[in-house]
Amino acid sequence: MGKIYIIDVTNRDGVQTANLGLSKLEKTMINIYLNEMGVFQSEFGFPTTKHEAFYLEANEELAELGLLKPIHLSGWIRATADDVETAFKLVPKLKHLNLSISTSDQMIQGKFQGRKTRDDIILMMVDALEAARSHELETVGVNAEDASRTELDFLVKFASAAKTHGADRVRYCDTLGYDTPFTIYDTANALAKHVSIPIEIHCHNDLGMAVANSIAGAKGAIDGGQHAYINTTVNGIGERAGNADLVATVLALAKSKGMGEEYQLGSPIDLSKGWKIAKFASYAFGVPIPINQPGVGANAFAHASGIHADGVLKDPENYELYDYTDLGRGEPEFVETGREICSGEYSGISGFSHIMGQMEVEFADSAEAERILTLVRYANVASQRPLVEDELLFIAKYPDIAKKLLTLRPLDMPQLGT
Ligand SMILES: [Zn+2]
Repeated sequence: MGKIYIIDVTNRDGVQTANLGLSKLEKTMINIYLNEMGVFQSEFGFPTTKHEAFYLEANEELAELGLLKPIHLSGWIRATADDVETAFKLVPKLKHLNLSISTSDQMIQGKFQGRKTRDDIILMMVDALEAARSHELETVGVNAEDASRTELDFLVKFASAAKTHGADRVRYCDTLGYDTPFTIYDTANALAKHVSIPIEIHCHNDLGMAVANSIAGAKGAIDGGQHAYINTTVNGIGERAGNADLVATVLALAKSKGMGEEYQLGSPIDLSKGWKIAKFASYAFGVPIPINQPGVGANAFAHASGIHADGVLKDPENYELYDYTDLGRGEPEFVETGREICSGEYSGISGFSHIMGQMEVEFADSAEAERILTLVRYANVASQRPLVEDELLFIAKYPDIAKKLLTLRPLDMPQLGT
């Protein structure tokens, strides 16, 4: 029986969202937390985008060092042979890739304005897939953008061509959040049965059904005899109304009626890390967690009304499906209410030594302390907010990688002002 795997796309769909973004260090921290949680794969960025190159390379190095293991790090590119070549030129160490192209008539006509037919779409995808396969990649997925508005016959033809030419998975994208749990179940099930290829389920929340659709789509793929890969983002951050929330999706897989017993994760997820990653993403994106967010919202375990409070005090299971400790909640948090020394882009050595001393980090000599301080200043320039403890510890432990993450210079550009 097929299993369910989580592919988190915060560092791709999340960061491409209007009004939101993450620094390269913040993206790296998300990858580290996802790995600690046991998430199967992180779609860690855009390998054809020049300002991503150092970050992607640095994260591949962290994988080699064992810090980002066993998580898969996958790049997202358009399904063109040119993009494949650019990706490998900029990030030669890439091991996993997803190639994306629109498949609905709406998008084929609306985007390509009559210059491409359905057959052209398949040819472009196959061309890109063959280019990708000519490199030393471990896995390649093919994404059908706007799959939920694509005719099933064409979707089957598209996915079959992808399979024939070496795709490991096909990503079914409900790009506009148009599906219901009923429709996505049927389509994912049909794709799995007719094409016999593992299916990725990528859902958006425009109609408030991203998590429900993800669960239903995964069930459809598994009932069709295939593995299912659900795309999530931390706190559901993603284009427009967002994507399927990571914590809510894992909770739904584990705790919803009948689901967990029958349909299982292929690699275990440590939900007790959920609180930490949700809090970090909220801080890094600058987006508060909604009070009623499943699992991690301020009210997720709050009870006020007499009947509920009395019931939960007698037995939490009266009014709670799962315990706050499942999410890693319950530890008291230290909040400074008096004098505070925090990191900043203009920090000096005295304040910095004080902060690091509190975390019991010692430097070999003053030159090393100055070097780490310089990196911390650069990290603050990128994030424009005080760094969290884990970020400071990361920089102190991996200064060379941090330097690469913080290096942002326009590549291959003619000299300006000459
Ligand atoms: Zn998306």
